[in-house]
Amino acid sequence: MKKVVIIGGGYGGIKALEEFAKLKQNIEVTLIDQHTYHYLQTESYDLVTSKIPIQETFIYLPTLVASFGKNFYFVHDEAVTIEDNQVVCKKDSYHFDYCIIATGSVTKFLKGFEQKGEHSLGVKSLRGAIHIKQFFEQELFARLEPQRAKKCFKVIVIGGGLSGVEIAAEMRYYFNQYIKENALSCGNIDIQLVSKHILKGLAEKTRNRTIKRLQYLGVSLIPQYVSEIKEQEAILSNKEKIDFDFAIFTGGIEPSPFIKNLSFKKDKRGFLIVDEYLKVEKNIFAIGDVAVLKDKQGNPVPPTAQSAEQSGVIAAKNILHTILNRPMQRADIKLQGLAIALGGRYAVIVTPFGLQISGFLGWLGKKAIEKWYKTPLKFKAKQGFKKLKQCKEHT
Ligand SMILES: Cc1cc2nc3c(=O)[nH]c(=O)nc-3n(C[C@H](O)[C@H](O)[C@H](O)COP(=O)(O)OP(=O)(O)OC[C@H]3O[C@@H](n4cnc5c(N)ncnc54)[C@H](O)[C@@H]3O)c2cc1C
Repeated sequence: MKKVVIIGGGYGGIKALEEFAKLKQNIEVTLIDQHTYHYLQTESYDLVTSKIPIQETFIYLPTLVASFGKNFYFVHDEAVTIEDNQVVCKKDSYHFDYCIIATGSVTKFLKGFEQKGEHSLGVKSLRGAIHIKQFFEQELFARLEPQRAKKCFKVIVIGGGLSGVEIAAEMRYYFNQYIKENALSCGNIDIQLVSKHILKGLAEKTRNRTIKRLQYLGVSLIPQYVSEIKEQEAILSNKEKIDFDFAIFTGGIEPSPFIKNLSFKKDKRGFLIVDEYLKVEKNIFAIGDVAVLKDKQGNPVPPTAQSAEQSGVIAAKNILHTILNRPMQRADIKLQGLAIALGGRYAVIVTPFGLQISGFLGWLGKKAIEKWYKTPLKFKAKQGFKKLKQCKEHT
């Protein structure tokens, strides 16, 4: 029986796993992840602003994998390197005939930023998102104390990409509602989005709509780069300084640290270069954020959950085709639109044909996309839970 190891149970790794289960071949599939959960990063803005509880932001991997039945295994371990057809992890090593690297990306912090402790974090980890949520709520509570409420609490969000825009809009909206619904006459919270560009690379229509909404909510836009972070002070590219109480960094990504230990070909930023079948080597594939993914014309596609999912399906199919001596499928990753949450029940959806739906309808669409992804996985995890319980009762 051929052994497949998938490293990373995020959007890409899970899709690959599902594809192996769907194609029902006699292979053993092991999913390794450093965490026991699949973090739904695309919903982190809702967690940070308490619109959804923590259980809505992850899928538990041991029960999800158990739902796929025999020959599917979950291992909670951190991969360190790949050597001689083995994934070497902190606790053990795992032999494979085929391997899929799906370890995603991490926030690429400005130098020194990550050392600013509790005042600065990213949202790319569940721990980071929970921390921001708790910190923000403490500050909301502090608005009720007269001696603190006089002070204006300053939050800076660094980076005007999708995550920066969503977090800034949702936090501003949350605070506005907090004041309005409780008729509070307390000190303000200033949310500043610091970025030279807002949603760079997207159509002007989408960028303008987003900027209008951010301004309507009361997010201050600072069109500069942050060149340096000091203790509670950001130095901008025009040498201006802005002080802050809390900073959220969403300015960029880099490959998960594990990739540094691998000697496969990489681009200048350290992401894995894959061939048209998503291989980095004869029997090793890379998918999702960690790989330089391209469309059929060879143009790079942005790292998104949807590109991770599409690449996961292709890699799994190509492994099965190789086992069955069939030709492999060329990767053609396509962005099938984008949904941007912009505070409360307001979102902008951009379809692949340039059609834009904004406002409440856009929000309904975004929620439908999230539910469409999450509900079947939650259901499967529950099935897996029952299976594990039955196994325990029989032993
Ligand atoms: C705030 C925010 C909003 C976003 N919104 C959208 C959106 O609306 N639409 C969209 O398409 N995309 C969105 N994205 C981007 C999307 O979340 C990523 O592109 C996607 O998560 C990439 O999937 P992946 O499978 O490559 O990696 P991930 O989902 O990051 O999964 C990687 C997995 O690998 C594991 N791992 C890492 N290193 C190791 C190791 N050494 N050993 C074992 N396991 C390891 C991790 O624990 C993790 O489970 C958003 C991102 C953020 C942060």
